[in-house]
Amino acid sequence: MRLRFGPYAGSSTEVLLLRAPDYAAWTMSHNPNGRLARAFAALAAAFDARAIRAPCTCGAPAAEARAYRNSTELILLW
Ligand SMILES: [Zn+2]
Repeated sequence: MRLRFGPYAGSSTEVLLLRAPDYAAWTMSHNPNGRLARAFAALAAAFDARAIRAPCTCGAPAAEARAYRNSTELILLW
């Protein structure tokens, strides 16, 4: 879904969820039943459902990862 209005007009929900998570969270909390909030929620659920394919630094399959705002790096926990 691509936004047609506001400060993020022209941006896709996929990019915004990753690059402007505060905006996505604000949208979901202020108008949770709105079309945009439902699109963000569905994307977040789809991202969360994806398996982690990189191994832990110990070589075992990773089961959990942590992401940080404004960073594309993941820290694998175990
Ligand atoms: Zn490990």
